[in-house]
Amino acid sequence: MHVLVLGAGQLARMMSLAGAPLNLEISAFDVGSKNIVHPLTQAVIGHGLENAIEQADVITAEFEHIPHDVLDVCEKSGKFLPSTEAIKAGGDRRIEKALLDAAKVKNAKYAVINTREDFDKAIEYVGIPMVLKSALGGYDGKGQWRLKNANDADTIWAEMAECIAATETQAIVAEEFVPFNREVSLVGARGKDGDVVVYPLAENIHTNGVLSLSTAIDDAELQEQAKSMFTAVANSLDYVGVLALEFFDVDGQLLVNEIAPRVHNSGHWTQQGAETCQFENHLRAVCGLPLGSTKLIRATSMINILGEDSLPNEVLAMEGCHVHWYGKEKRAGRKMGHINVTADYSGELQRRLAKLATILDKDAYPALQELS
Ligand code: AMP
Repeated sequence: MHVLVLGAGQLARMMSLAGAPLNLEISAFDVGSKNIVHPLTQAVIGHGLENAIEQADVITAEFEHIPHDVLDVCEKSGKFLPSTEAIKAGGDRRIEKALLDAAKVKNAKYAVINTREDFDKAIEYVGIPMVLKSALGGYDGKGQWRLKNANDADTIWAEMAECIAATETQAIVAEEFVPFNREVSLVGARGKDGDVVVYPLAENIHTNGVLSLSTAIDDAELQEQAKSMFTAVANSLDYVGVLALEFFDVDGQLLVNEIAPRVHNSGHWTQQGAETCQFENHLRAVCGLPLGSTKLIRATSMINILGEDSLPNEVLAMEGCHVHWYGKEKRAGRKMGHINVTADYSGELQRRLAKLATILDKDAYPALQELS
């Protein structure tokens, strides 16, 4: 089968690697250049989206910020999965919040802001402290403000007004500040037959709004809560493929922060830590194949490599370390690759992470320092 992926980044690349053993051939549509490229080499292998759509058996996406005209032609072909509705929900916080409410899934209290008057009403309704997020285009903590004091409202409004004016359909979503103990995420897949499988929850550490460390955790009660919220969201969208839910854990109660209608950075650990990785399961789902087991096979953490294009050889030499580069040009803060660290049990994993903290640069891998 031939799968066309909208987006030609590392997620399409890892789908291509995971699909090869199943004879699934992947090509990628580079949304910037509008070329059809090979997801591993980036070599141009075709021109024209219409042509690529015709040649594909299935079309899917690796990210949610896809121009709506591209989504619309893909939807018309009848080959696009999960669905344009799901992709649009992931790319617009207003739609995402409405979807969570409709599925009766707990999320932070919020209000949508288009005008200064809306902002004043949101301050009343949501309260201070408040987190303000652009409805469109924000990810990895970008396009966000914190209102901690009513005196700062005018300054923040000036910046938000500029943001709203810059894009025709832009708005701001104001959210109550959630005093969470930790952030966790659940990655899972729903098949064409409605079958749902989920991986163990991952605990995530972010640095400056960007994920830096994810560790698969074993917590039966939280897992149960997360799975039922996952199933409610996936069923409400009649979702097909891998979906990720990011949560705040507040004293053992989960609140959904975000949904990502795609394979997710906090699921990269599944490449070494689970029976079937998230990339293979996404392809299995959209191709109508049986879903693979999501069972944890060893204790695993994932460390993001941000803005670095080399690692000391000691990392490759270390038992349990698996390095995944994305073949990208170095840029400050850019996701360049990741390291999956595995061990037979959790204590051994912690020891390996502590050893890596002594090998890797402290400034480039701050989450490792927090552990040791
Ligand atoms: P997001 O882009 O929505 O994932 O936000 C980036 C990061 O900001 C999250 O990973 C949280 O650490 C933090 N954050 C987002 N929303 C809230 C909130 N309502 N309350 C507290 N912290 C938040």
